[in-house]
Amino acid sequence: VGINFNAYEDIPVEASGENIPPPVNTFADIDLGEGLNENIKRCKFVKPTPIQRHAIPIAVAGRDLMACAQTGSGKTAAFCFPIICGILRGHLSHTKSVSMHRGAPVAYPLALILSPTRELSCQIHEEAKKFAYKTGIKVVVVYGGAPISHQFHNMERGVDILVATPGRLVDMIERARVSLRKIKYLALDEADRMLDMGFEPQIRKIVEQMDMPAPGTRQTMLLSATFPDEIQRLASDFLSNYIFLSVGRVGS
Ligand code: ADP
Ligand code: MG
Repeated sequence: VGINFNAYEDIPVEASGENIPPPVNTFADIDLGEGLNENIKRCKFVKPTPIQRHAIPIAVAGRDLMACAQTGSGKTAAFCFPIICGILRGHLSHTKSVSMHRGAPVAYPLALILSPTRELSCQIHEEAKKFAYKTGIKVVVVYGGAPISHQFHNMERGVDILVATPGRLVDMIERARVSLRKIKYLALDEADRMLDMGFEPQIRKIVEQMDMPAPGTRQTMLLSATFPDEIQRLASDFLSNYIFLSVGRVGS
């Protein structure tokens, strides 16, 4: 596993949009904060991959992002680093991430990462925990096909970044155990696969929840290996004044 950097050196990255923050050559070129920098070293990430070089400065600047890149290009860190950096810069512990409502705990995560399957969600959870190690940021994963009570229990101990599959999250929202009212960061990973698996209605419902009471306070990152019409539609519906990145050859 890991990235073959020799094979990646020459891969072109195309960027379009307004006022694009320039790419960086090293992680140190962006002020990611001490905690995250330590964790990057601990993970032995020596230098950013092409998607990371472009995506991280864009997302750290607070811009919405649509990124198309193949599997193995390093997308997880590309969206996790800006989320962690953003939370550390301002949003952590401004309120408790769990409050009681009518005798039941309700979780109020600051960031939501949606992914199509249990396996992918667990992988993202594992990576995000390494990136957030000792920062005080709590990362929790929820997915279908496993007892919901365990997952409620995990959330009750606090959740800043929630990694979820769409179906299970909708279930939890309907049971009023998760509120998306405080979400500042939304990442939709493997968006093309989520659509292939029929999750568009759930995803739209989730984003609708986030836009209540007022839209426009969240930063959204949409990640996909391909860029078909349906993904372009999601991008225009969910993102605002976004930057489009594509790495290498991208199918549609
Ligand atoms: P993608 O989501 O694009 O398929 P991942 O984010 O899962 O790719 O990354 C693939 C692998 O490369 C993971 O094992 C990850 O830990 C590793 N990786 C990501 N970025 C770097 C980096 N900058 N340096 C070294 N390894 C990295
Ligand atoms: Mg991935």
